[in-house]
Amino acid sequence: MITLDKYSIGMGDRFGRQGKAQLSAIVQARDEGISIVPVWNKSHREHKIIGTHPGEVRAEADAAVRALSYTGRYHVDADHINLANVDEFAAASDFFTLDVAEAIGQRPAEEDLKKFLRACSDYTGRLAIDGIEDVLEVTQGTLERIGQMFLAPVKEAGRIYRRIEHIKGRDNFVTEVSMDESHSPQTPVEMLFILAAIAAEGIPAQTIAPRFTGRFNKGVDYVGDVGRFAREFRNDVAVIAFAVREFGLPANLKLSVHSGSDKFSIYPHISKSLADFGTGVHLKTAGTTWLEELAGVSLAGSEGLCVAKDIYREAMERYEELCGPYATVIDIDPTMLPSVDDWDGAMFAAALRHNQLCESYNPHFRQMLHVSYKVAAEMAERFYGVLDRYEEEIGSCVAENLLERHIRPVFGGNGR
Ligand SMILES: [Zn+2]
Repeated sequence: MITLDKYSIGMGDRFGRQGKAQLSAIVQARDEGISIVPVWNKSHREHKIIGTHPGEVRAEADAAVRALSYTGRYHVDADHINLANVDEFAAASDFFTLDVAEAIGQRPAEEDLKKFLRACSDYTGRLAIDGIEDVLEVTQGTLERIGQMFLAPVKEAGRIYRRIEHIKGRDNFVTEVSMDESHSPQTPVEMLFILAAIAAEGIPAQTIAPRFTGRFNKGVDYVGDVGRFAREFRNDVAVIAFAVREFGLPANLKLSVHSGSDKFSIYPHISKSLADFGTGVHLKTAGTTWLEELAGVSLAGSEGLCVAKDIYREAMERYEELCGPYATVIDIDPTMLPSVDDWDGAMFAAALRHNQLCESYNPHFRQMLHVSYKVAAEMAERFYGVLDRYEEEIGSCVAENLLERHIRPVFGGNGR
C-alpha cells in the first residue's frame, strides 16, 4: 500500500533541471530533524505549455534520488488531471490529483442525490465536532444544497479514481481530490459532506485540496483575512479527523494546500494547527522554483539578464494568452508592470524576488513572470543554455528558497 507520509511537499520544476537542488533541500531539512517526503508534481496544463511528458518528471525524480543517494520515500504527482488525460500519466506517477472543480454545481442524478441525503440524514441537527468551537447546524436544506453542488464532482472523482485503479491496481498510488480552482471557497461543513460522499464513492483519498477562503495567487503571499483563514483551516483539520472516524476514510487523510508557495503570512497558522492537532499537511508548490531560476539567470551576467528581459518583454506582448489559463489564481494590475529596459540584474532580481521588506519587490511583476514560462520554453536552447551554464548558482537559489522560505516555516518544529 502506498501511503503518503504525515508531512509532504509538492515541488514543481517546470523545466526539469532542478530536481537535485530541490532534493538537497529535503536532505538538509532531514539533517535538521524535519522529516518530509518530496513529491514532484507537474500538471497536464504545465506539460502542454512546455511540451514535456509525464515520463520526464519520473526520470528527473529518479535521477535526483540516485545522484544524492537518497533513501527516503518520494512520489511523482500527476497534478490536476482528469478523465481525458489520466492515461498519459498512469505509468510515470504514483500520486494522482483528481481535479474535479469544473463539475462543481453540475446537477447530480436524482437517484444519487436521494442516496446521499439518506446516508447523511443522521447528521442533521446540532453537530458537535472535537476541535470546533461552534456547534454546527446542519439542516436538510444544507445537505440538499451541498449535494446539488458537490455530488457531481465527487462522482467524477470516482470515475477517474476507478480508471487509475484499473490501470495501476488498488493501493499502488496515492489519491488526492482537488477542488481548489473553483470560484468560491468550500466551508468546513461542505468539506464534511464532500468527504462523506468521497467515502461512499469508495475513493481512498489521502489528501483533499479545497479552495480556502482568501486568494491563493501564484507565487505571492496570501491575500485575505488571515484570522479567518486560520479558523477555517483549524476547522477543516477537525472535520477531517471526524470524517476519518465516521466514514472510514484513510487514517492519514490530510489537507493539501495548493498554490502553497510563498504564503508566508499564513504559514505560522498552518504550523500551529499541525502542532495542536498532531496532523499532517501536503504543501503543494509549483512555480516558485521557476522564479528562482529566473532570478538566478538575471543575476548571472549580461547574457542571463538579456534572456530574462526578453522573456518578460515577450510575455507583456502576449499578456492575454499567458494570463488566461491562470485567471482564477493571479491578480495582476497591468498598470503596475514596469519597463525593464534600463535595469541591471540586481534590479530585475529585486523586483522579482519575494522579499516583502524590499522596496523594489513588485508582486505584479512576479505574477506576470510566474505565468511566462511558456516564453522560456519556446526559447528552448537559449534558455536551457543559461540554466546549464549557471547551474550551481541557480541550484543554490532554488534549494535555499525551498528550505528557508517554505520547509522551515511550515514544518520546522512539527516534523520531528
Ligand atoms: Zn491546484
